[in-house]
Amino acid sequence: MTNISWMSPDYPVEKYDGPPRNIAYIDQLSFDPDLQPKHSEIAGTDTSSRILILDVNILEATGRESYKGDVLIASQRFTHVGKVPNKDDLLRDSSVRVFHGRGRTLMPGLGDAHTHFTWNGGDLGQLADLGVEEHTLLTARSAECFLDSGYTMCFGAASAKKRLDVVIRDAINAGDIPGPRFLANGQEMARRGGELVEGITAFADGPEEMRQVIREHIGLGVDQIKLSMSGENITEIRDAEDCYFEPAETAACVDEAHKHKKRVCSHARSKESVQQSIDYGVDVIYHASFVDEKGMDALEKNKSKHVVAPAINWLVATLYDAGMFGYSKEKAEEVGYRKELEIADRAMREMHRRGIVVLPGGDYGFAWTPHGTYARDLAHFVERFGFTPHESIIAATYGMAKLFMRSHEMGQIKEGNYADCLVVDGDPLENIHLLQDHDRLNIIIINGRVHKAGAKEYTIPSQNVTGVHSMTNEMVQPKMEVAH
Ligand SMILES: [Zn+2]
Repeated sequence: MTNISWMSPDYPVEKYDGPPRNIAYIDQLSFDPDLQPKHSEIAGTDTSSRILILDVNILEATGRESYKGDVLIASQRFTHVGKVPNKDDLLRDSSVRVFHGRGRTLMPGLGDAHTHFTWNGGDLGQLADLGVEEHTLLTARSAECFLDSGYTMCFGAASAKKRLDVVIRDAINAGDIPGPRFLANGQEMARRGGELVEGITAFADGPEEMRQVIREHIGLGVDQIKLSMSGENITEIRDAEDCYFEPAETAACVDEAHKHKKRVCSHARSKESVQQSIDYGVDVIYHASFVDEKGMDALEKNKSKHVVAPAINWLVATLYDAGMFGYSKEKAEEVGYRKELEIADRAMREMHRRGIVVLPGGDYGFAWTPHGTYARDLAHFVERFGFTPHESIIAATYGMAKLFMRSHEMGQIKEGNYADCLVVDGDPLENIHLLQDHDRLNIIIINGRVHKAGAKEYTIPSQNVTGVHSMTNEMVQPKMEVAH
């Protein structure tokens, strides 16, 4: 352990290769049970459906090391993990869908704590003028893109139009369109003169008007409320180190939302906005780059009440990837993004060290943070914050399930849990970057339904693979002939 203060530019990325530390600190996180979101069931999985996945390296996200085994899914849930009884009977049963893992990794579906389905991968200023019909289609496409990218849990961080998140969530949950389990947000709320992008903001000044806006959003069916408290350097007029909310406003917002059993998240880069978020009980604190020592201590003391999601990829990409979109590195440095990234990196290292729950989710859907690249966050957690790959995966799976307040049935490969899982070609514990490669995400299953599985998953492996002699599944027999 280093003696260098986390505030110092020399505060290093910690070297650690022991067992995952964040299971314990995710476990101690405890939101008021009254705040549990109502919407996380997805309809439409056949009650008689069974999927048998053979010979996988099971990465449970419970903290246990990976091990070889088989998995059985019946309808929406895992019924057997590791050992599946009566396997030969299942293999002879033509109604059971069989996948041969061939040693590939089976792991839980990933999660993103800062999701914008409604962002267009470009100029957010144009979203206000985008027709609601086109915007609905765009939002549905983003939802599918998350699932295509291996994501089965997304926590909405603001919707460009008030009802879009809600409508898409309901369509996913009805089984009408493909997408991850999703908790919907409304428009982000800002004070007049404190907004980041005018056309996608709900405005309110003072506690009373803010309460009204929150009640309106809750009436529309959102799962959580977003406060836009601090600035953002790219605007050049609202500094990331400024806070636009008064303490009485933040207090009123949390009070109103919690009274209606909804949680609150905040765009909080400045230290004052982070401090208010802690003092008044904002549940999910986004960014938190400029947290100071006082804020860090307060967060540590209240770590059972808060999740921090830095959305770090936004800072990384704004500094390093925005050039081809006409936003040069020099410009990004000039307005302060290098400074913010360095400070935020150190703050997140320190939070991880102190056992404060930090979750991935990177503000994807801007031009240089395109949809589909979500898993970059997991690599940032390893390379920038000192998470082990195992810890990074646990944050993105079990940690996200905890944020959904469904960790008893989501986010881990466990008997009784929802069958939301991936079969990955390779071992992400060896190379966390694998999860960014969609070609490696060979099978994607959500709620016990196969969302993705390529043609090769339906052919029977060649005869020299052990166990195959017992394969007499009539449904796939004809394909064996094609394969030979
Ligand atoms: Zn955002």
